[in-house]
Amino acid sequence: MDKIKAGVLGATGAVGQRFVQLLADHPYFEITVLAASDRSAGKTYREAANWILPQPMPAQVMEMEVQPISTHLDCAVVFSALPTAQAREWEAQFAAAGYAVFSNAGAHRMDEDVPLLIPEVNPDHLNLLPTQQANRGWDKGFIVTNPNCTSMPMTMALAPLHARFGVEAVIATSMQALSGAGYPGVPSLDAIDNILPFVAESEEVKMNIEPNKMLGTSTAAGVTPAGIRISAHCNRVPVSDGHLVTVSVKFRQKPSLEDILAAWREWHPLPQQLNLPTAPQPALVVREEQNRPQPRLDRDAGGGMATSIGRLRPCEVLDVRFVCLAHNTIRGAAGGSVLNAELMMAQGMLEQFK
Ligand code: NAP
Repeated sequence: MDKIKAGVLGATGAVGQRFVQLLADHPYFEITVLAASDRSAGKTYREAANWILPQPMPAQVMEMEVQPISTHLDCAVVFSALPTAQAREWEAQFAAAGYAVFSNAGAHRMDEDVPLLIPEVNPDHLNLLPTQQANRGWDKGFIVTNPNCTSMPMTMALAPLHARFGVEAVIATSMQALSGAGYPGVPSLDAIDNILPFVAESEEVKMNIEPNKMLGTSTAAGVTPAGIRISAHCNRVPVSDGHLVTVSVKFRQKPSLEDILAAWREWHPLPQQLNLPTAPQPALVVREEQNRPQPRLDRDAGGGMATSIGRLRPCEVLDVRFVCLAHNTIRGAAGGSVLNAELMMAQGMLEQFK
């Protein structure tokens, strides 16, 4: 198979490095461009990136020269790990110039004509793309986004339950890893021996609106949100990687705990059916132990792409409660975006970019 030329925007950062790792030996994509700020441009990737992953930097990128961000890059697809402000400035320009843009940033997630995609949850939301291109006058390029790293595990856990029983209300408390703030991220004197009960002004808003968009109904005209009331409490905790979320749920039709376990265990969504290269098998890992999932033990499940769930039990206030967890820089960021691209490739939607 001819590989598609791929660029990573924000390639030197925490998420950019994950992109580099996931794309280095990818069967569909070949990294031809690494781009970052003017601070890094002109340096080799080895010089520019303060490599923070435990696995070694892939040999083929070490001597690549980091490019400044521009719409004249030698690639057809870009994976964006830019900060939100730069994503807002650049991503639409890339799409207008004919690139396929797979973005991690928050800049366009809630645009009415932009798919906010988890391939297991709402692959049909790709039906927004013709409208997006018509609205914006783009003949080839487009933007597809993936959700915030905390919305992601909760939405994965809720998706099969919402389909069977209808989710009415949710109270969720996140315990978010330090790498969620990028590198160098949270100052050590704020993080060590501490919990920060504030992540960012927009974090709890994202936890409210993003799951509703993804679990909503999409037509070419736009998405009707799912209408779930969500109360989110977001906290930063001294964990390196892995966002854990405790979730209490109220349903329209009241399932038993066995019904819920069956819904999770029987879920075999599209990326798993298609056996996409980065799709975890299974998508949801249901833990039986009382004390799981835990970030250190469970974040790497399914190569960091699986969502782990456990501690399902009744809730005295709503109906049930449970704990879910995913790796924030893999499934919650770069891996989510790569899976979006794999889905479009498998569906023949990237033929023009070969
Ligand atoms: P990060 O570690 O701070 O990395 C930021 C990257 O963007 C670096 O490559 C940096 O390049 C580049 N950059 C900064 N300013 C730039 C500019 N003015 N022009 C061009 N490039 C610039 O951040 P991150 O955690 O990887 O986050 C990247 C994006 O992913 C953000 O939008 C974030 O919200 C989103 N996200 C992050 C996570 C997570 O868990 N960390 C999860 C989901 C989504 P230099 O090295 O040259 O400065």
